[in-house]
Parts: sequence; structure tokens; C-alpha cells
Amino acid sequence: MRITADLHTHTTYSHGRGTIEDNVRAALDRGLTAVAITDHGPGHLFIGIRGMAAFMRMKQEIARLGRKYPGIDILFGVEANIVDVDGTIDVPAYILRQLDILLVGYHKLVRPRSVAAFCLGARNFLAGWTGRAGEDLRRRNTAAICEAVRRYPIDAITHPGLQIDIDTRELGRVCAEQGTALEINSAYAKDLEAFLAAALDTGVKLVINSDAHSPDKVGDFAAALQLAERLGVPAGRIINFEGNMGRKRRELGS
Ligand SMILES: [Zn+2]
Ligand SMILES: [Zn+2]
Repeated sequence: MRITADLHTHTTYSHGRGTIEDNVRAALDRGLTAVAITDHGPGHLFIGIRGMAAFMRMKQEIARLGRKYPGIDILFGVEANIVDVDGTIDVPAYILRQLDILLVGYHKLVRPRSVAAFCLGARNFLAGWTGRAGEDLRRRNTAAICEAVRRYPIDAITHPGLQIDIDTRELGRVCAEQGTALEINSAYAKDLEAFLAAALDTGVKLVINSDAHSPDKVGDFAAALQLAERLGVPAGRIINFEGNMGRKRRELGS
């Protein structure tokens, strides 16, 4: 199975090690036809994009690099955070309208928008220490992320189940309805196996990404491909499989 687009990479705009241009060159070296720049949304306490002006600088830089490297599609994206229990994400509508691709990841250590979100975040933080999430917490987490999928035009949910316990079967059902993919993340493939396996029979689409935080990892899909094979995922379900990309690229608006 050949994957020709890496739709989840980080740069120095959040906590990646390379510049946007470094990721683009790495993607070209790997023979990719598309790469998305998807740094962490500004709601993360430590590693998010700093300020809305940074989004505008990224957009301009990507447009400039698009002219410099016509052999590859460079997508302007973000890995947004969930910052409230009703699924609110940390990227305002006027930015969302300008993106080529919207990823959402459920992360810890985000700036909560309400007391309820603060409490949910604290419980998830504690569950990380004790290793016990419990049914009620899982249900609340699932409700928040499913609401986000219903409210926003999300292309993919990154690393579903990583760090924050969710019912991925329920998430998969909502994603299948909304046309949102679940990510087989190469950086965390092992941790995601059970969560992805639980979602498969919902018919949800999948996407294989590197989640590269350094240029040398851009286009490194090895662990994700192995997991896809173990899970028996057919190529037709994977939106960035080479044979499916022409359609997806148009959908992504580039
Ligand atoms: Zn993430
Ligand atoms: Zn990421």
C-alpha cells in the first residue's frame, strides 16, 4: 500500500524541530505529492501556535513555498484542541475558513473555556496518573469529541484514544456520519491498536499520517502501515492511499 500524502506534520510554529520549508523538502525527498502543515492549536498551554498572527504568517509562507515547489501540494492546516465540554475547539471561524485541512486532537493541558471543561481536564490529568479513567469520564470525553465532529468540518481526528480515554466505537459512528476520518498515527501506532480496532466496523474512513515532529519523520508511515495490515483495513477506506488521493485533494480545496 502506498501513501503519497502526509496530512499531519509539525514545525517550529508549535513544537516541531523543522521549519515549514524543511518539512516540504523532506516530503519531496520521500516522493510525496502532498504534505500538510498542522501545528498545535493555540489553546494548548505549552506547545500551541502563539497568537492568531502566527496563522497568517504560516499562510503567507505556505503560499510562497507553493510557488517555489510546484511539484507538491502544501496544505495549510492545524491540529486543533478541544477546549470545552460542548466540543468547542481553539481555532476561530475566520481562521477555519482559510484552512485547507482541519485536524482535531484531544490533548491534555489545554486552556479550558469553562469550569466544566476545567474539571474534565483535571479528571483526565489525574486519570493519567492513576491509570484509571472510569466509565463516567470516558462517557464525558466521548460526548465532547463527538460534539466537535458534529459542529466543525473536521477532516480527521488525530490519534483517537491516545492519552484521553474515549469510546472510539461511538466516535467512529459519528465520524462515519459526518465524513470525518480517524487517524492511524505512525508515531503512536502501538497505543492506538485497541481504540482503532473498536471503531472499524462502523465503516469510518481512515487516514495514515506520520505526526512528524522533525523533518526526518515526514512521510514515515511504517508503523501505521503495519497496524493497518494487522487490523485488516482495506486500501479503499484510507483517504490518503495513493489511489484515493485525487478525489481527496479536490475535497481538501487545493
Ligand atoms: Zn496530537
Ligand atoms: Zn500532532
